[in-house]
Amino acid sequence: MSGIGKGIAASSTARILKSKGYRTTCVKIDPYLNVDAGTMNPIEHGEVFVTEDGMEADQDIGNYERFLDEDILALNYMTSGSVYLAVIERERALGYDGKCVQMVPHIPEEVIRRLNLVARKAKADFILVEIGGTAGEYENLLFLEAARMMHLKHPENVLFMLVSYLPIPDKIGEMKTKPTQHAVRALNSAGIQPDFIIARSRVPLDEPRKQKLSVFCNVHPGDIISAPDIDSIYQVPLNFEKERLGAKILKKFGIKERKKDLKDWGKMVRRAIFSKKEVTIGIVGKYFGTGKFTLSDSYLSVIEAIKHAAWHFSRKPNILWLDAEVYEKSPNRMKEELGTLDGIIVPGGFGSRGVEGKIKAIGFARKNKKPYLGLCYGMQLAVIEFARNVAGMKGAHSTEVNRRTKYPVIDLMAEQKEKVFKGKIGGTMRLGAYACRLKENTIARRSYGVRTIHERHRHRYEFNSNLQKVLESKGLVISGVNPESGLVEIVELKNHPFFLGTQFHPEFKSRPLEPHPLFREFIKACLSYRK
Ligand code: GLN
Repeated sequence: MSGIGKGIAASSTARILKSKGYRTTCVKIDPYLNVDAGTMNPIEHGEVFVTEDGMEADQDIGNYERFLDEDILALNYMTSGSVYLAVIERERALGYDGKCVQMVPHIPEEVIRRLNLVARKAKADFILVEIGGTAGEYENLLFLEAARMMHLKHPENVLFMLVSYLPIPDKIGEMKTKPTQHAVRALNSAGIQPDFIIARSRVPLDEPRKQKLSVFCNVHPGDIISAPDIDSIYQVPLNFEKERLGAKILKKFGIKERKKDLKDWGKMVRRAIFSKKEVTIGIVGKYFGTGKFTLSDSYLSVIEAIKHAAWHFSRKPNILWLDAEVYEKSPNRMKEELGTLDGIIVPGGFGSRGVEGKIKAIGFARKNKKPYLGLCYGMQLAVIEFARNVAGMKGAHSTEVNRRTKYPVIDLMAEQKEKVFKGKIGGTMRLGAYACRLKENTIARRSYGVRTIHERHRHRYEFNSNLQKVLESKGLVISGVNPESGLVEIVELKNHPFFLGTQFHPEFKSRPLEPHPLFREFIKACLSYRK
């Protein structure tokens, strides 16, 4: 079933293989018909992760990047929608030479073609392909078929791993293996026999259950890997290695084992688990757990980036979720809640709900000299707050929320106007990495330590350059611009310990072994503030 950590299992296995000196990459296959994840509400599907080359992907791609400490590209993400679209477009271009184009083999063949391309491009020794969905359901059958076809052709090169959940019903208090037995049967009927079972559960798997699973699922007991709930997802590679998963995989492929090196990883995990002193960060947002996914999924990369930076200073992040809409009605509640924080983040977002509350929170951070980090919408709203309350532009706004504002400090990008007008919404925002030149003697320049950076974007609106001069004359610092287009990418304030907003999403590039410079400096400022 979903949500049991397939992505983390894939990422962790990849990390283990990488730590043994093999080039490894990961691919995510999502069974739904959306061409990418960009058109889905984060409450429905979790965060939309943006790759360096501008794919709006599933949040698991972010996990792969964080675990592997490598960029994962657009090619490594596919959905049923994107695969069908490619096959149909090829058919329309006579790419099948007049043949009858069919679900099988043409859909699985397109999947296999892409996997081979990934392997070539990444020069990978191993690709971990995560097939989303549940064994036995209709939606991912053609992907299992692709896997089966690959295995048929190259049995020595393909292994299967099933991630399965073993429930412990409250009233019974005993771990149940039956759902996993059925999952294996469902896979068998798709022509696939798992080589490994990752046994997810609340607690470690015991020996009798290992034996039982082995007999009924036709898997060697040593290849059933216990995967109990843990405090930090980053512990998973270490746990898998306790069962020597890496060595077992290499042995099945007939590859010699090399020395493994998870030392730095282990150090990071120990800091994550044992740091006791806290740093308290508030995220003021609106995507708060109303759907299938909770808020922590909607803002996954932001949370991970905070963790990485906090662990860097051996601090335990205490993250509070603050609902912007409440602040619109209750300024006292806002003062009370924000008053206890060491720092405030307003993350990315869309539309008008909660906007005034976020602007109020940003004003609070500015006036009280509390560290503030604005991410995308959080940068745009910081500009609005500054325009209204420092530069005297009453009613200043983004045209996303108020099209008739007298001071459109944030406005639709020129090339976006036509796309939106024509209803071309999916995959048409300003996406992926763009260069940004930093201004000397600014927080941004000091944090990064270099002059030019590349960061990932996902937005339609931008800082209105017509109003740039006026805002600068009132004290707003433009500390980063795109060298080609002149678009404003970073704003900050002087006479404030840390007040900075980025048009891009730095959170996508934070890694556990290398926290993002802006998050690192933000947390550092939070720690000084706390003192
Ligand atoms: N809604 C804003 C825009 O489209 C900000 C987007 C974001 O925060 N990712 O420009």
